[in-house]
Amino acid sequence: MVQPYHTEMRVVLVGACGRMGSVLAELIAAQADMRLVAGIEAFGHPAVGRPLGTGFIGSELGKVIDGCDAVVDFSTPQSSLANLRIAANQGRPYVLGTTGFTAVELEEVRDLSRLLPLAFAPNFSVGVNVLYRLVAEAASVLRDGYDIEIVEVHHRKKKDAPSGTAKQLAEIAARASGGRRIAYGRHGQTGERPGDEIGVHSVRTGDVTGEHTVILGTDGERLELTHKASNRMAFAQGAVRALRFISGKPSGMYDMNDVLARHADRSGS
Ligand code: NAD
Repeated sequence: MVQPYHTEMRVVLVGACGRMGSVLAELIAAQADMRLVAGIEAFGHPAVGRPLGTGFIGSELGKVIDGCDAVVDFSTPQSSLANLRIAANQGRPYVLGTTGFTAVELEEVRDLSRLLPLAFAPNFSVGVNVLYRLVAEAASVLRDGYDIEIVEVHHRKKKDAPSGTAKQLAEIAARASGGRRIAYGRHGQTGERPGDEIGVHSVRTGDVTGEHTVILGTDGERLELTHKASNRMAFAQGAVRALRFISGKPSGMYDMNDVLARHADRSGS
């Protein structure tokens, strides 16, 4: 088991110059109990060699992993898998926010989590994790005769669709409503909407940080549960909370529920 840090947690940030990476770099630098010791960017990225925190931006995690206590990664599936393999070799705690993994890649992420403590969530905002619970409750109570549809809206530069959060919402709603089938989008002569379907729809426009709405509709009424992120700070705050949570944990896969459960325990004590 990796020992908990004793003074400051030395953090390496993968995807350091991305939209999430930039917000996280500032937030980590502002934490009294953390020190940003290096950033990792794609090989050939113009920022490689620039200072970041108390160190530099490089393109090889292997060169800085010995001097860090934890890694936080919001980059791309290929980058995250490569870096996760390196961190797994050293058993380094890892917070992973990247989305868009294929089923095969996800299997490898799960396998690697046997070798290191991994906090992995497609959405680190506290509000979305409360939405998961509300959706489970609503889909379970309204399982008979209510159609379930999910609409997600993101900025035009987002690379994967549907969002990891929308997939997770659909899986939660499917389980809670008795195993419905998930249909991504709708097109052509679809016929009447089958009752055992959950429709998931992706909108890409402008600079929207992220919005998710779950609609439960029947004759005469419609319940809509919506979460809107207005900037990336909510995700970054959750990732920083996950960094503190994951440090010193035994190897395995943890999610935001685990992170929030610890917080609830603490506030209750
Ligand atoms: P982005 O494209 O702005 O940033 C990705 C960064 O990763 C870029 O700077 C890119 O150069 C870098 N990168 C690419 N290849 C790399 C490599 N081999 N090594 C190191 N860095 C590399 O994207 P973003 O909006 O910051 O999102 C990043 C990821 O995080 C996406 O998968 C996104 O869906 C996800 N995301 C998750 C959450 C969450 O709460 N879990 C929130 C927002 C975004």
